[in-house]
Amino acid sequence: MIYNENAAIVLSERLKEIKERIAQAALRSGRGDKDVFLVAATKTQPSEIIKEALRTGKIDFAGENRVQELRGHLEDGAYLQVPVHFIGHLQTNKLKYVVGKVKLIQSVDSINLASEVAKQAQKAGVTQDILLELNVAGEESKFGFSPERLDEILPQVSKISGINVRGIMAIPPKQEIPGQNRPYFERLRQVFIDSKAKKYDNVFMDYLSMGMSEDYYDAILCGSNMVRIGTAIFGKREA
Ligand SMILES: *Cc1c(COP(=O)(O)O)cnc(C)c1O
Repeated sequence: MIYNENAAIVLSERLKEIKERIAQAALRSGRGDKDVFLVAATKTQPSEIIKEALRTGKIDFAGENRVQELRGHLEDGAYLQVPVHFIGHLQTNKLKYVVGKVKLIQSVDSINLASEVAKQAQKAGVTQDILLELNVAGEESKFGFSPERLDEILPQVSKISGINVRGIMAIPPKQEIPGQNRPYFERLRQVFIDSKAKKYDNVFMDYLSMGMSEDYYDAILCGSNMVRIGTAIFGKREA
């Protein structure tokens, strides 16, 4: 998206519509619009556009995929209005730029990464909130734990000090036909509810982060309380 005088109007109209659909889906699933958090997936967007989007007051969190972009945007003060989350695949050698700088790391996809995040958090003197990323469709191209393994993963991450698990995140396959991802969303909701029922230290199943531009309505119907939306807010990405 290009930054010009129209950008603010376009962003504000798109966000108004998105918020209406979020409210509608939340209502249909027995909740209110305040029960679903909107994360703006900001990858490839310049700081000025991010600031403009956040200025609408309709976005709860910014979500960054790439460490380099996160650093640039932090330097530019792009997220002064809302906290930022990290939502992309993380390499351990870049953790110092992320841990303690973001409110939530949504994309912890291995025990090793969880341990490294914890180490970095202790070094920085903070406790880092994280979500565990699940590879719900078992796609080879994607990172994340298999949902079947969550039962063995939770007691393990529970013992690591320096992190709090706040929920789960998943990126189901790109939807080709409407409604296609509903079985995955249902599965994730079940896993979320089951894990919530088990009590482990430092594990709080608060967030079920699922749903993107093409399928957030269905995701909310299936129990999502955090949607990550890029294209529907900023338009089609060049890169
Ligand atoms: C890019 C991205 C999104 C948003 O995708 P859109 O289809 O543009 O809404 C959500 N989550 C993650 C992890 C992403 O990388």
